Amino acid sequence: MFHLNVLPREPAWRVAGLRADKPFYSRSEQTNIFPVMADTPSKTDCVVGVDFGGTKLYAGVFSDKMEIVGSARKSTKPQRSVEAVIERITKVVQEAVDEADLTLKQIKGVGIGAPGAVDGEAGNVIFAPNLPGWKDVPLKKALEKSLGVPVFVENDCNISMLGVYVTELKSKPKNAFGIFLGTGIGGGIIINGELYSGFNHTAGEIGHMVLDPAGPKCGCGNKGCYEALASRTAIFKRIQQAVKDGEKTILTEILGDDLEDMRSGSLRKALRKGDKLVEQVIREAAEYTGIAVANLANILAPEAIVLGGGVIEALADEMLSIIIETANDCAMPGVMNGVEVFPSKLGDLAGITGGAVLARKLAK
Ligand SMILES: [Zn+2]
Repeated sequence: MFHLNVLPREPAWRVAGLRADKPFYSRSEQTNIFPVMADTPSKTDCVVGVDFGGTKLYAGVFSDKMEIVGSARKSTKPQRSVEAVIERITKVVQEAVDEADLTLKQIKGVGIGAPGAVDGEAGNVIFAPNLPGWKDVPLKKALEKSLGVPVFVENDCNISMLGVYVTELKSKPKNAFGIFLGTGIGGGIIINGELYSGFNHTAGEIGHMVLDPAGPKCGCGNKGCYEALASRTAIFKRIQQAVKDGEKTILTEILGDDLEDMRSGSLRKALRKGDKLVEQVIREAAEYTGIAVANLANILAPEAIVLGGGVIEALADEMLSIIIETANDCAMPGVMNGVEVFPSKLGDLAGITGGAVLARKLAK
């Protein structure tokens, strides 16, 4: 069982909205055998965090101590309709709750991170560049209807950064930035200890910072965005194109000529076997990330820049020194002094952890 011990312990009666002077009962109350006193943690204090990615859905049920007591995964299948994806999110939550031997009635709230611009207050996905048809989708409303539980929606990278900030950054820097490299690239900004999402809820879209105006087309419609140059999708496209152009890589030996099942882990294997093509493409992705880090440091001068997402999880050892070196070269002299750049330890738990933190914070 994964134990995160992150939140200040709230007395169970306060979390459950009960009075301290009255006992309340655990799930055994149906039998009325074991009345449980107020300070005993109850599974009914559980919340669910959902990582809604362009490729995968991942839901985790968290106890009041932020232990994961159940989880479930599913592919997103974004090529299907918006309604079909919402149905898959509903199912992944139901399965995680079932894994935890709970029912939805025992869940206080669900926090979900969606890939794109999100109006957290209304719970709408305004625009998701990697999800066809996702424009002005009332996700909160739809999920509250299908799940019957309060739902809170935020941008996926904002939520991941919230998870990293609350559980991992023990020194609680005032200002911190998270960069998450996965299918796409996103960011999360903490200013003065609070998530910053901009007046129109779209701040932190670091993946769409233009790094090369003559670069490849991005899912957002522009050209040369950081995401179009260095995300997993961009890395895979570069390698596939190079193979079509006749370049050699041991990836074709591992995966076949179409490279269909390429994953971040396959890139790591190829790198460790000294594959020159993969080394070159990963070096470039790390350099673009270093430029992004330098730009952020120039503008925000945060104490910490945390790197996360599937690409970093698989390739941090190979990429980190190049990222830091490039950032030091590209930032204005002095700006990087004292700025810590490091990979998140949460890995793919960042999204569900942040979702749980959000739900815990906002659910009544
Ligand atoms: Zn873009």
